[in-house]
Amino acid sequence: MRLRFWLGLVAVFLVATGSIAVALAVRANDYDNFHRLQREQAVRAARQAEAVTELSVGQLASAVAFYQSTGNISAHEFDLIAAPLLDQGALNGTAFVQRVPNAERRRFELERAFPITERGLGGQPRRAGGRPVHFPVVDAAAAENQVGASPPLGYDVSSDPIRAPYLHRAGRSGKPVATPALPLLTGGSGINVYLPVYRDRAPTATPAERQGALIGFAAGAFRIDDLAAVTTAAVSPTVEVQLQEQGEAIAGATEALDDPASAPIKVADRTWMLVIRDPSRPGIGLPLLIAVFGVLLAALLGALVVIWSRNEQVQELQREVSQDPLTGLKNRRRFEEDLRTELARSQRDRVSGALLMLDLDNFKQVNDTLGHSIGDRVIEEIADVLQGRMRETDVLARLGGDEFAIVLPRCDATEAQGVAEAIATGIREHVPHKEGVPPITASIGIAMFGAGSQADLESVMADADAAMYGAKAAGRDAVRLSALSDA
Ligand code: GH3
Ligand code: MG
Repeated sequence: MRLRFWLGLVAVFLVATGSIAVALAVRANDYDNFHRLQREQAVRAARQAEAVTELSVGQLASAVAFYQSTGNISAHEFDLIAAPLLDQGALNGTAFVQRVPNAERRRFELERAFPITERGLGGQPRRAGGRPVHFPVVDAAAAENQVGASPPLGYDVSSDPIRAPYLHRAGRSGKPVATPALPLLTGGSGINVYLPVYRDRAPTATPAERQGALIGFAAGAFRIDDLAAVTTAAVSPTVEVQLQEQGEAIAGATEALDDPASAPIKVADRTWMLVIRDPSRPGIGLPLLIAVFGVLLAALLGALVVIWSRNEQVQELQREVSQDPLTGLKNRRRFEEDLRTELARSQRDRVSGALLMLDLDNFKQVNDTLGHSIGDRVIEEIADVLQGRMRETDVLARLGGDEFAIVLPRCDATEAQGVAEAIATGIREHVPHKEGVPPITASIGIAMFGAGSQADLESVMADADAAMYGAKAAGRDAVRLSALSDA
């Protein structure tokens, strides 16, 4: 019983924890899927921004090839190149930056009709290969949506402390170089990309050769807001977008996004980070439902286990108080209850019944010679013999020791004697299972009750007892009918 109770509790525990585990697994799975989709959105948007900027950088490279082949271009030629650049790509502005040795500065300014304007480096022209040199913007064009600022013609990029390092890195490396986000010369915040232009057919294998062959740069400007707009267009409308440069937000959401996904955006040689947050998080509904249902089921099961175990305990107690532990027959207490009921019924119905008292003969000897446990075994066997002879309505009990009692309802003295004789014969003829056990016999006393008699339980029991002792006195292995019953 205990074991089943604990197994029941373990089952309850498993149902409760199992359902919570399933609920957590469902929630984790929902979140995994959500994070995957959020990451996919971020990657898709970043690729989109990269594709747009790559296209523009590619077009700038084509412009470089043109500058290279012509060496020096007119304002009209520049406009022809710039127009498609600004129309098709994401570029917000483009410029041609020309290398002008300091010695040629005067002539350049006269020819171009605008001065070279220097910023920030103390008015000193940059030295290249030992000779001072300027890198003024000689042609510039901005996208049509760009209002206000006029093209920064003459602006010496190499004297700009922020831009100069990137310009020169591009010149040395021969590759496109992007600046970090900075204020654009045409207004707003953005990034510049510089592509070096070398003299046609000049050797450019080493940094020194590239330095010598450098004639200028093709420059492009992307507005940060335009890049952010490209990424925003690539994600769901509710998704928050933030563009980061070295961990700092430079566009989109200003606050740090909670539980976001990110993907890099590479423009030329520099990488920005796109961070997004999709607000449509997975709901708690289904996992909560599973957990609540499981816990309720466990609670119900728990209640059932407790009730069921209580019932079992009660039944066990009832069995204990009414059952003989050795034979499983009714005990004296239960027998007296049944006999009392039978007495009342017989008196009411005016029918007779019989009480048989049975005591094994010389049973002490069995115990003394063969041991108590063999004695127990014999008592069990005799109980089986008696059980085998009972009708459905008969009541059989072990009163204690080697003493049994039987109630035969609705029978007269002759029938009772017949049954008692048959029982005595059955016991006598029973062959004990264990070898060495002597044949067992019993002395049986019979007391009749009911059918007008008002005898109570005690007197009927005493009556049957007396008859049984009479049988013992008569030499044992005998049946005696109570003298009172005879009368
Ligand atoms: P008698 O013929 O006069 O009945 O003699 P007896 O030896 O059977 O003696 P009695 O009925 O007076 O005593 C019953 C004996 O049965 C006493 C005890 O040794 C034995 N006995 C009582 N209860 C148990 C039991 O539960 N198991 C076993 N093995 N023996 C028991
Ligand atoms: Mg006895």
